[in-house]
Amino acid sequence: MAYRTINPTTNKLVKTYPNHTDADVEAALDAAHKLYKSEWSKGPIQPRLKVLERLADLIDARKEELARIATVEMGKLISDARDEVWIIAEIARYYARNAEKFLAPTRIDSQLGDAWVEHHPIGVLLAVEPWNFPYYQLMRVFAPALAAGNPVVAKHASIVPHCATVFEELVNEAGAPKGAWTNLFITSDQVANIIADERVQGAAMTGSEGAGSAIAAQAGKYLKKSTLEMGGNDVFVVLDDADIDKAVDIGVFSRLHISGQECICAKRFVLHESIAETFLSRFTTAMAAVKIGDPLDETTRLGPLSSADAVKGLSGQVARAIEHGATLHLGGNAIEGEGNFFEPTILTNISRSNPAYFEEFFGPVAQVYVVKNDDEIVELANDSRYGLAGAVFSQNIERAKALASRIATGAIWINTFASTAPELPFGGVKRSGYGRELSELGIKEFVNQKLVLVAKS
Ligand code: NAP
Repeated sequence: MAYRTINPTTNKLVKTYPNHTDADVEAALDAAHKLYKSEWSKGPIQPRLKVLERLADLIDARKEELARIATVEMGKLISDARDEVWIIAEIARYYARNAEKFLAPTRIDSQLGDAWVEHHPIGVLLAVEPWNFPYYQLMRVFAPALAAGNPVVAKHASIVPHCATVFEELVNEAGAPKGAWTNLFITSDQVANIIADERVQGAAMTGSEGAGSAIAAQAGKYLKKSTLEMGGNDVFVVLDDADIDKAVDIGVFSRLHISGQECICAKRFVLHESIAETFLSRFTTAMAAVKIGDPLDETTRLGPLSSADAVKGLSGQVARAIEHGATLHLGGNAIEGEGNFFEPTILTNISRSNPAYFEEFFGPVAQVYVVKNDDEIVELANDSRYGLAGAVFSQNIERAKALASRIATGAIWINTFASTAPELPFGGVKRSGYGRELSELGIKEFVNQKLVLVAKS
């Protein structure tokens, strides 16, 4: 894998980065393992939490610069990049302020004696991360790992090396000791060797099913704990009693957020038949009116896809869906000229035998389904290999809550866009992966939850 920055707005090469050698990987593992065995990891939590507080302040102070780096490197709107920078500082602060409480011993009522569970670091972790949230994905692993005392070696996506480098610099500047977070520009083979290494105790991976499966297989072979945050095919359900204008606004935003390249976002629009025509008509008008262009321009609403390959892949998916009988209701094409732009697209009449029915479209392509009742909604929503998230729009909150309980995903949002916050757990079921990041659940994925029992005298 060649690590290089290619600006997706222009497709011009900005910079290439040399790969790390096996000797570099060995030095990184050695430093990380030494740190794990030191007082820093095993001792009091306060020095580690101070680093997180400092890191949050450093990030806040460099917000605009960090946002621009992400926009130039992977093409998200500058306003979205600022939001991402804001939230990574919040995640660092959240663990700085709550990790001590989360990791405190918890007592258990037992007839066998005085019992409690302690939380200890387990050792060096590997993080393998995608480009679509080039800082947030790193912070979701780093902040809880640092608080818990687990050093991390990280392999970021090959198209965001500048974000990877700047994140490591910030961590070092915040006072994290050598080995706490080491960025490595490495190949899949080197990733596999790291998982096999005895010093490494866990792997946290976010990305596609193919990569997740490769990492989970290697972790399984060497009996290492792993968490997988994979893709999704989230439903965006609009019931007959929904506020249609609100659902249209949020639906357009959600489907086009990060140019449609977000794991949790509206991908399958599931419309109650009585409002389907109205919703589709307003949704189509709004999608068609979106301003497409330079993501650094504050007025742009849809930027480029992350790479030329992404455009090729998405074009192929749309063409295949149409070949198999889907109706192209809007858009459908890559935009000619400089950069990796793709039209806002709507597909209707997708049958279950169409490959699109089960696929994740990682771009501005909405699939639309029409249903008759709540049972059909549940059946369609759960007829998916994924199970990441979903949204339900209704003015009847009790009805929406009942539906939310029946949909098999890691999260459901009612009358809102899939939002993330440090205190909200994040993760999926089925092929969307396993394990949780963020919140108290996230920090407990990679700690030894050790039982201690004092016998009754
Ligand atoms: P990807 O190709 O799987 O890449 C993710 C990371 O895995 C990159 O660092 C990539 O490195 C690495 N990788 C790829 N193949 C590998 C292998 N065989 N061994 C080791 N590492 C490997 O994913 P993507 O297509 O860029 O990302 C988009 C996917 O991520 C979508 O499906 C999206 O839904 C999902 N996602 C999920 C979440 C979540 O929290 N659930 C969040 C964001 C994204 P290279 O770049 O060098 O190939």
